[in-house]
Amino acid sequence: MSDCDVLVVGAGPAGCATAIRTARAGLSTILIDRARPARTWAGESLPPGMGKLMGSVFGDGILSERHHRAAFGTRSVWGSAELAETDFLTNPLGHGWLLDRARFDADAKVAAATAGVTIATVRRLGLVSRASGWQVETGDDASFTAGFLVDATGRSAALLRQLRVARIDADRQIAILATFADDGDAYCGTTVEAVADGWWYATPLPGGRRVLAYLTDDDLWRQGERDWHGLLGETLHIGRCAGSNALSATPRAYPAATAQTDQLFGEGWLAVGDAAASFDPLSSQGLASAVLMGARAGEALVQPDRKQAIAAWAAAYAMMVAEHADLRTHYARLEDRWPVSVFWRRRQQPDESLTRPRWVGQRKQRV
Ligand SMILES: Cc1cc2nc3c(=O)[nH]c(=O)nc-3n(C[C@H](O)[C@H](O)[C@H](O)COP(=O)(O)OP(=O)(O)OC[C@H]3O[C@@H](n4cnc5c(N)ncnc54)[C@H](O)[C@@H]3O)c2cc1C
Repeated sequence: MSDCDVLVVGAGPAGCATAIRTARAGLSTILIDRARPARTWAGESLPPGMGKLMGSVFGDGILSERHHRAAFGTRSVWGSAELAETDFLTNPLGHGWLLDRARFDADAKVAAATAGVTIATVRRLGLVSRASGWQVETGDDASFTAGFLVDATGRSAALLRQLRVARIDADRQIAILATFADDGDAYCGTTVEAVADGWWYATPLPGGRRVLAYLTDDDLWRQGERDWHGLLGETLHIGRCAGSNALSATPRAYPAATAQTDQLFGEGWLAVGDAAASFDPLSSQGLASAVLMGARAGEALVQPDRKQAIAAWAAAYAMMVAEHADLRTHYARLEDRWPVSVFWRRRQQPDESLTRPRWVGQRKQRV
């Protein structure tokens, strides 16, 4: 049995950020990492200005051009049939980044270990119970006791499910996505294109690969008559940008709903990153929010008045979720070419009971 002050479950960017902050402040911290290999499918990008945040949490080497690529702009076909470009050259925050996510995640874990975090690799999360402190069993006959638990398990929100905290989905979005050897155009940035029942993105990746994804709602995808390649053939620009290898790529569907937990924290626990709130991939905001609010959660945990610090952190998180909801509606309303599209209508007139943050005046913990 291992004992610690803070047990962080999930060794993604959010979990590493929280663990680094608590370990640096002198709390004994264990980070539970899953033995299953990390996902490597998604090419992800960071908007300008995020280098400073990532460097301050994980160290300056985290965004080296040896492993990741600088992004020099974004292109979009949105609200009109034209391909419009936003060049980062004129952005005072500098360029963005196209990430090798597997490498980024591995380096975040190295940064956590360097900060004094103990990383424990387990096969699965077992029973979680609470007496005087928390007890967490794993599938390896290992168990942990902890004063405080952090759910950083991403969209699966594995710990919150054990605590019987509900997850609220604002939509049923999925990403039908393929990666392949890149023979697309030389543009070094993400390209998005809105279509009748969703939107596409294409991003070149480090290592000569490219990711191409179609985002739509699960129910619309099932009802649709076209397959991924057929829909790609109907796009105005993105099919050409993505290159001919896209035509033989095999896509797979992944969850990509905008969602939030019904309860962000309780007696002796809190949630960070996608476990707390999953943002629409259109925003390219998920990673930065996960790291920023993950680090701030760690800072709150080491304050003398922990309760008050967590409440202030939760209020800031709620504001971020509210701003994201407003921005998402704003972008959906810019796209008015398909007035009868169910996909766009759902986002232009969202059900605010599903998109607004629920964390102000938290209910009492139910376990
Ligand atoms: C299609 C798509 C495209 C995206 N593109 C972008 C983008 O361009 N830019 C951007 O910033 N964001 C993007 N995002 C969002 C981004 O991926 C997430 O916001 C980010 O990964 C959240 O980090 P996290 O640490 O909270 O969760 P994750 O990165 O999901 O990490 C969770 C960790 O917990 C582990 N875990 C899960 N269950 C358990 C368990 N039971 N026990 C132990 N460990 C467990 C996992 O293995 C993983 O290591 C995209 C998302 C999608 C779906």
